[in-house]
Amino acid sequence: MKIAMLNPPHRYGQDTTQWISVPPQGYGGIQWVVATLIDGLLADGCEILLVGAPGTAPRSGVTVSNATTYDTTLEALRAFDPDVVHDHTNGQLLPAEPDWPAVRTHHLNGVPEHRVNGVYLSHAQRRAAGSADAPIIRLPVNPDRYTYREKKDDFLLFLGRVSVHKGARDAAAFAQAAGLPLKLAGPAWEPDYLHGILADYPGTEYIGEVGGSRRTSLLAGAAALLALSQPFGGPFGGEWIEPGATVVAEAAVSGTPVIATDNGCLGEIAPHVGIALPVEQTPTAEEAAKILAGLPAPEYLRATAVDRWGHHVVAAKYQEVYRRAIAGGTWT
Ligand code: UDP
Repeated sequence: MKIAMLNPPHRYGQDTTQWISVPPQGYGGIQWVVATLIDGLLADGCEILLVGAPGTAPRSGVTVSNATTYDTTLEALRAFDPDVVHDHTNGQLLPAEPDWPAVRTHHLNGVPEHRVNGVYLSHAQRRAAGSADAPIIRLPVNPDRYTYREKKDDFLLFLGRVSVHKGARDAAAFAQAAGLPLKLAGPAWEPDYLHGILADYPGTEYIGEVGGSRRTSLLAGAAALLALSQPFGGPFGGEWIEPGATVVAEAAVSGTPVIATDNGCLGEIAPHVGIALPVEQTPTAEEAAKILAGLPAPEYLRATAVDRWGHHVVAAKYQEVYRRAIAGGTWT
């Protein structure tokens, strides 16, 4: 099958010479999803055109396009002539009615720009988008891209945007209650929020945005990953319903349990690899100790992540959806 994969084109930090690649140099949830899905599709013999991530390292079976705009994307699509287009850009690079069968994975909150042939990441996200029966396919993880460790170090990890809706401050509060240091990793685009956390929680160390082996060692070494997402403070001002949460599968496949809230997708996925706490709950020292003591073992976590969210499983689900679109099926 020939698949054109449309990734949202973003510059890499302040650097105007580089785009965020697939997989990303550092922070980049959608770019990780696209990379991992491509891993699974290539294993099944698919041929891929990757648009929206110029500079991505070439690999066999993948043509990397330089297109980053609507018009140049259409040109690249015409030259490749895909069986199906898979849009991850919320319509940024694809018209509402393209000339090819199309499938659109929605990565954000709320009602998407183009709803036809949408795929959602969780029941919560699909509900908020007003769809009743579009497919739900969880975010994938490729175990070969992560380090697995049975023996954990004495720290908790936050890995993501250091923002209110991602619960970075809540992670610091949990770590303090648990009596463990917190490593806070990720871009901090709201410096006041970050400085407030560091001032109020001395056990928190900010290590900035991480990529490469630093990222995988943190994921593998942490005693637990904290994903205490909050339903407010989202990027567009509205309610934040955690849509898919890539970090959950990444931690689990590294043998690291997840302590989450039950916001959005987290209430659906975190209980399989840890715990989903009610958002309004800030645990006491005793409760935090009990939560940490009750988390699943590394071997179980890795096996669960591979079974539920492994790249082969998720790529097979997408190929079913592609075939449905290629056969002329439409759904909202
Ligand atoms: N990430 C990273 N380096 C960082 C912070 C985050 O590589 O410093 C990655 C993280 O591993 C995950 C992604 O960025 O793959 C964030 O995706 P997620 O779905 O968890 O959050 P969102 O896309 O909502 O920001």
